[in-house]
Amino acid sequence: MNFKNYMEDVVLEVYKEFISKNPQYCGCERCSADTMVIALKKLKGLYAVSQEGEIFTKVSCEDRQIRADALIVIIEAATMVSQNPNH
Ligand SMILES: [Zn+2]
Repeated sequence: MNFKNYMEDVVLEVYKEFISKNPQYCGCERCSADTMVIALKKLKGLYAVSQEGEIFTKVSCEDRQIRADALIVIIEAATMVSQNPNH
């Protein structure tokens, strides 16, 4: 499993759940894509992903922690996008 793909899957999954529970944020295709990109960037910064394999083995056993972190960056990203939407 690839760290990048794994992160993208987690962010997508957490984002879908977040947007369904928080309809005040726009969930259109454009805003979803922008939010995902920002959230992924923040998340990568959080885990300082330079050596993907190594980092992945460190975090792979802490799936719940990654999801919690993903939700935090998604909320930040969704707030940023909603303040300056591209749709
Ligand atoms: Zn939108």
